[in-house]
Amino acid sequence: MDRRFLEENIINLKGIGEKTAKLFEKCGVFTCEDLLTYYPRAYDTFDTPLAVCDLKSGLVCACKLTIVGNIARRHVRKLSIVAFEAADQTGKVKITYFNAPYLASSLKPGTTYIFRGMVQKKGSFFTMDQPKMYKSEEYAALMGTMQPRYPLVKGLTNNAVIKAVNQAIMNVGAIEEFVPDDILKRLELISFSDAVREIHFPQNSEKLEKARRRLAYNEFLLFVLKLRLLKQNSDEIINTFPMDESSEADALLDRLPYKLTNAQISAWNDIKNDLGSKHVMNRLIQGDVGSGKTIVALLTLLTCAANGYQGALMAPTEVLAAQHYESFKEIIENYEIKSLRPVLLTGALTAKEKREAYRLISEGEANCIIGTNALIQEKVNYKNLAVVVTDEQHRFGVRQREALAGKGENTHVLAMSATPIPRTLAIILYGDLHISIINELPGGRLPIKNCVVGTDYRPKAYKFIQNQIEAGRQAYVICPMIEEGELDGVENVMDYTEKLRSNLPQSINVEMLHGKMKPAQKDAIMDSFARKEIDVLVSTTVIEVGINVPNATVMMIENAERFGLSQLHQLRGRVGRGEHQSYCIFLNTSESKDAIQRLDIMNKSNDGFKIAEEDLRQRGPGDLFGVRQSGELGFKVGDIYHDADLVKESAMDADRILAMDPDLLLPQHRVMKQILAPKSANFFDFTTL
Ligand code: ADP
Ligand code: MG
Repeated sequence: MDRRFLEENIINLKGIGEKTAKLFEKCGVFTCEDLLTYYPRAYDTFDTPLAVCDLKSGLVCACKLTIVGNIARRHVRKLSIVAFEAADQTGKVKITYFNAPYLASSLKPGTTYIFRGMVQKKGSFFTMDQPKMYKSEEYAALMGTMQPRYPLVKGLTNNAVIKAVNQAIMNVGAIEEFVPDDILKRLELISFSDAVREIHFPQNSEKLEKARRRLAYNEFLLFVLKLRLLKQNSDEIINTFPMDESSEADALLDRLPYKLTNAQISAWNDIKNDLGSKHVMNRLIQGDVGSGKTIVALLTLLTCAANGYQGALMAPTEVLAAQHYESFKEIIENYEIKSLRPVLLTGALTAKEKREAYRLISEGEANCIIGTNALIQEKVNYKNLAVVVTDEQHRFGVRQREALAGKGENTHVLAMSATPIPRTLAIILYGDLHISIINELPGGRLPIKNCVVGTDYRPKAYKFIQNQIEAGRQAYVICPMIEEGELDGVENVMDYTEKLRSNLPQSINVEMLHGKMKPAQKDAIMDSFARKEIDVLVSTTVIEVGINVPNATVMMIENAERFGLSQLHQLRGRVGRGEHQSYCIFLNTSESKDAIQRLDIMNKSNDGFKIAEEDLRQRGPGDLFGVRQSGELGFKVGDIYHDADLVKESAMDADRILAMDPDLLLPQHRVMKQILAPKSANFFDFTTL
């Protein structure tokens, strides 16, 4: 089938009207291709129902139960609640439904159903909120099947997505293959069409894994091909901004209260060599959280300024950009640095402030421009942009880095990332960049102390936080959600803030931070946390990137089992950044063995590279859709750890293909070329580099 069908708007699908199309748009789904790559986030499996005595708290279970006793109906504010008990010979479960008042009359004591849902243990009782209810024969028909569960937005039901995907699969028919046959045979990969069907509607877990592998290979191969095509260009670019070493940078290093670590020195030497060499710099600094990448960026920008050029530093969030700006200003002041004149440019500035920033930039009065992607907006005219630094590189797309570099001509590029990727993989995945690794934390830091605990530990944790605050320190508490949602047993920032306020003495100032706040509000909160006016910050993962408040010594993560290991590592990296002993409390609310084992990895190591490797070791090949750390690199199904073999194979395949056919002109590469062509480069919107 022709690729044009893939590019068709989903509104042309049967059963999708304007309203549904709008909802899909919110999920980033516009075309049939978007829909086909809108992968399920999980699958429901229907196992043999368990007896009550075998239920596990924190897991989704099915259980055959008979309704006993009365069906109670009550109202709490606007919420109608139907609750009853149901039992088998081994025990009882309390079952609750919200906003389904009709159940009160349709359910009868004495009838038996299979209930399937999340089980929680509350005191001596098991509970199930909103379980799905099946008659025995209904459930029997589902047993052994896997039903997709899609990410949803309000108003969009799982069934609506299933229907739409089904339609799209039928309309598109067989999708044209772009991977040469010999590769498919060698790697035992299934066809593209089969893979797309099976990822949505797998017949069993084995077939699902085959589909996932095939689609992962697609992602890797296209990614590497694109990289190789980019690299061909960048390696040969002549350095038109050759730079001398700066005596001011040396003087700063002499006066800093600390000595650079050996790894920092070596990265800094790499950069100095690049800046003075014949070719333009294209370098990635990979350094674990807290390894001190910011000072390396500052030295680079200082050298650039001292040579009479402009440099820019782009951060993924306003909060982080503002923090960099403040810390640069502080260093400039404290160490009397003359050449560096920074300006902050983010979306949070007023129109007037922005105009002033634009003027300073275009006239060259500012020579160190720090900001968010506001830096790449059309209105910004740089005078002589020579260096572009991106912090937390993995948060940006290829396009953004290119766009910023495109603001000058042949600018040097320095990308910084804390995603721990083993070197062999990094060389492939960051193929167009040279790599420096900062694999050492500054000396004198006390290793963070970790503990993984259950919910009954909460009171102790609050007491501990209180003690730390009374000793002058500060704390973070992370919750997965912003406000009360449909997910049961998952903490949210708003309610948690209230809860903490009532659990801690009044003198302790508890505030919250989350992604729905206005930029200015977020900045204000972060500022006052940095100034120690706030003692405890309850936050979503918005604080995950780069925030540096060395006085904060406690990181408590609620529902820790819901986060990926690398994300947990990033969150933990917000503490242990200063001289004080720091602590990380992982609160596990699940009884699943896997969760306990995974969290134990965090317990044992503070080393991002080790965590990534250990995570890979523990996850057997049977783990589908495990924690996708490489999601940060923009792969939807590919997991660079789990599928490390495929990453390597795809890199070799890409090289072979390009060696034989550098411009992809052979007939067997026609579709591949089409996909890689800028016109349909949508694919690369989410590949980040
Ligand atoms: P990251 O690599 O996570 O971006 P930062 O650059 O924010 O880390 O550095 C974390 C903290 O470590 C900062 O407070 C910084 O001043 C400090 N720091 C950086 N390098 C050193 C060093 N060599 N010795 C001691 N402290 C350092
Ligand atoms: Mg940083």
